[in-house]
Order: sequence, then C-alpha cells, then structure tokens
Amino acid sequence: MLTALGLLALAACGGGAGGHQLARDAGTTSTSVTSTPPSTSTSATVATTTSTGTPGPVVVRYRVERHADDAATADFASVVDATLHDPRGWTRAGFVFQQADDAPYTILLGEGPEVQQRCRPYDTYGKYSCQIGPLVAITADRWRSATPEWTGDLTAYRQMVIDHEVGHLLGLHHRDCAGPGTVAPVMLPQSTELHGCLPNPWPLPAEVARAARHDLPLAPGYEPGDPRDTP
Ligand SMILES: [Zn+2]
Repeated sequence: MLTALGLLALAACGGGAGGHQLARDAGTTSTSVTSTPPSTSTSATVATTTSTGTPGPVVVRYRVERHADDAATADFASVVDATLHDPRGWTRAGFVFQQADDAPYTILLGEGPEVQQRCRPYDTYGKYSCQIGPLVAITADRWRSATPEWTGDLTAYRQMVIDHEVGHLLGLHHRDCAGPGTVAPVMLPQSTELHGCLPNPWPLPAEVARAARHDLPLAPGYEPGDPRDTP
C-alpha cells in the first residue's frame, strides 16, 4: 500500500517507529529569508536565500493561515505567534519572527487531505504535519487532540509541533532521545514516539546552539531518507 515516496517521507519526518508527524519537502522555488544586519533596525531588511554565516539576528517573516473554523482551532494564529516569540523557543538561536501578510513563509493549519496534498512528495497519511520549502503545514486533527503517544498536555503539544516544524524550516533535522527519563529534543518526532523521553516543546541547548550557527539552508525542500542532527 505504501508508495516508495510514502516510505521515504515516513523516513524523512516520522522517525523509525511507525510514524512521524511531519515531513518536509522539495520542489519549492526560491525561499527567501529576510535578515537584518545587526547594525540596523528590524525594519531594514535584506533578502537572502539562506542564512549562511549570518552572525546577527536572522529575521524570519511568516504568515499564518487557518483552513478550519471550529472552536478547537480558533486560537491557532495566536498560539503560533506566542510560541515563536517565546523566550524558550528559537529566539534563543538568534531568530526574530515577524508576522506579515506578504511574508515568504506560511504556517498553515489544514485538514488531513489538504496537508497531504500540500506536503507532497512527502506522504503525511492524512495525519502527520510537515515542512516543505516555505510551507509549514499542521494537520488540524492533531492540533485538536494531539496523539495517543504524547504524554504531555495539549498546550505543550501545540507548542511542540510548531517548534518542531519551524525547526525544520530553520534547517534542522531530527534528533534522537538521549535515553529514558531525559528531556526530549524538540526535533525528536515526539508525536509518534517518545522513546522514554519526557515530552518537551522547546529546543534543548544543543539544538539552540546548532541553529544559532546560522549556517543551515532555510526552508529546505524535499529530503529523502531521514537526515539526523547529532549532538
Ligand atoms: Zn520532523
């Protein structure tokens, strides 16, 4: 039943334990990030294709789309904004997030079939979320109720799925659980398997340090297999 692409997608974003929650892709056109030289105000921006070597804050401009209208998803945009601006999040790695209607990146909440379509060639099986090029797509059902494998609360799940997918947008790959009882890296595919780790919506210091080098291509396209970031 699984297509080759589906298997690749599973490997790319779900981890090895029979699922994952998101995928990323390829096939996108130029994905620009707006970076701000440290000496200027944040309103003066310079478009770049990657953040390679950028020493100062890197501005990531995004817009939010919610393709659902039920009460359970009503606060999607506000939770995205709060999570991205949270001092426990990717701001620690020198990223400044700005919401704008004409932003190059989109953080979308959609129903399973839409996410499935938008995440191609990753296969989200109608339930996983993904990042592919300039798009982060969160599946609405998971936003509503998390997953059976998640041992934290729903608020933390929502923060985790945003930080995980935006971590992919920043160029990060998956990480493993260091061992039972340790705090999960945010880049562990926690939606599907915690491997004994404690649920965690925020990047660990090692993940912050990796992202803070600003040498990863932003908004990567489709990446077959499951590239890993190591400590
Ligand atoms: Zn992932």
